[in-house]
Amino acid sequence: MKNQLFIDGKWVSPIHGGTQEIFNPATGNLLHVVAVASEHDVDIAVKAARRAFDKDGWSTLPGSERAKYLRKMAEIIRRRLPELAELEVKDNGKPRPEAEWDIGDAAGCFEYYAKLAEELDTNNKSDIQLSDDRFTSKVVREPLGVVGAIVPWNYPLLMASWKVAPALAAGCTVVLKPAEVTPLTSLELAAVAEEAGLPAGVLNVLTGRGSVAGQAIVDHPLVDKLAFTGSGPVGSRIMASASKDVKRVTLELGGKSPLIVFPDSDIAKAVEWVMFGIFWNQGQVCSATSRVLVHEEIYQSFLDRLVAEAKKITIGNGLDAGILLGPLVSETQHRNVSNAVLKAKEDGAKVLTGGGRPANMEQGYFFEPTVLTDVPLNSEAWIEEIFGPVVCVRPFATEQEAVELANDSRFGLAAAVMSQNNELAERVAANLRAGVVWINCSQPTFTEAPWGGYKQSGIGRELGPWGLDNYLETKQITAYVSDAPWGWYIK
Ligand code: NAD
Repeated sequence: MKNQLFIDGKWVSPIHGGTQEIFNPATGNLLHVVAVASEHDVDIAVKAARRAFDKDGWSTLPGSERAKYLRKMAEIIRRRLPELAELEVKDNGKPRPEAEWDIGDAAGCFEYYAKLAEELDTNNKSDIQLSDDRFTSKVVREPLGVVGAIVPWNYPLLMASWKVAPALAAGCTVVLKPAEVTPLTSLELAAVAEEAGLPAGVLNVLTGRGSVAGQAIVDHPLVDKLAFTGSGPVGSRIMASASKDVKRVTLELGGKSPLIVFPDSDIAKAVEWVMFGIFWNQGQVCSATSRVLVHEEIYQSFLDRLVAEAKKITIGNGLDAGILLGPLVSETQHRNVSNAVLKAKEDGAKVLTGGGRPANMEQGYFFEPTVLTDVPLNSEAWIEEIFGPVVCVRPFATEQEAVELANDSRFGLAAAVMSQNNELAERVAANLRAGVVWINCSQPTFTEAPWGGYKQSGIGRELGPWGLDNYLETKQITAYVSDAPWGWYIK
């Protein structure tokens, strides 16, 4: 396992020699010790990325050449999939099959953006028709510059890939900072880049604290763009800091995603999607199905099934076979989720199942699958992201009421609707104020489709061609092609 910073194509120790311990959330035991970067290390990394962009030719390489590096990185990630998945489980806690999905998706993301990099060679220029035929004009798209990528702990390698792959495809260079608690697979991504022969300075990976290394990336005047996934308060601070130099910013923030179950739904299927939506990755998902609205006609039968199925979820170390729910990522996260449930109870919520640490599991940061009802609309449990395996369920009587309740949130990342009636489902989807709406499912995410939120869930879209656009500038080149003088003062 790597324990240094990856700067300018080399593994180096931080200038001031700081370290940080990393723990396995399933056991609470020490897993590894990594380096902690200071603002001086960030400065060196940003200058390396700047040089790689401005002078060394990464930004001017044909897309087809950059694509070769991306494909090579995808190949190495796939070859190392079992090992990287195991590392993700030990670092983050998620069950192994989910980690394998993540790593496979990360490889797929590099492959997808390799294709888009190749296409850029032919589609990065277009002529535009002007209203004055004395001029011709074309539009070219060019790489934006040096990108500061700051990612959270819930999908460590995948969130890094969602930023690094399109940025490199576009011709940008990157300084990546993983989350404090889950830095290990991002360090391996640096090793992947090294093995792929990525030129020095094109990808730099610095472990360290958000308030120090992260903030130093955000404040660095030579960084052109910040791509951030994380919490709302940090995103808001990043946007404020970025405004000083008018840096470009994309933000993928939190959510409190509703799922509406209409009475014609198949209850067993709806319950399965709700369980997947709130219990996979231990509910530590920005788009987690955390508010479920169920039509009053089927409310009780839906709840009965949900509670019965939630009780069957197998909890344990993500490395063990058959485990569906691993530990939360850290002691802090365990405390946050526990406090959120205690507070919900004080506010009058009923706990139908779960609510705390599973019996006989004293070690690690495990939390039971939890179903809450009677959660007041003004309580934090209904309004704020809990980021754990805790779902709030509430009945509704009419379509209008369901849509109003669903939209009554400052977030707008994702939403879902369950119904056999296509017309109804499409109408509700159109009325939901969210960047992602699922019909008769919840959570499936595809590299080809845009990802991002309305309202306070963020700014911009990742994935698909939208993800590439984030790392491109648009330039018009307009030529005066008439022989006649312009005629402003020569008549
Ligand atoms: P966080 O905001 O605490 O940290 C995210 C990253 O920002 C970490 O790398 C952290 O070190 C860094 N950071 C912290 N302070 C910083 C600062 N002042 N300057 C620069 N960087 C700083 O979030 P988290 O707890 O790691 O992640 C959980 C949050 O992420 C949840 O709110 C979740 O909804 C959100 N999230 C959103 C998406 C999405 O796609 N919308 C995906 C995953 C997670």
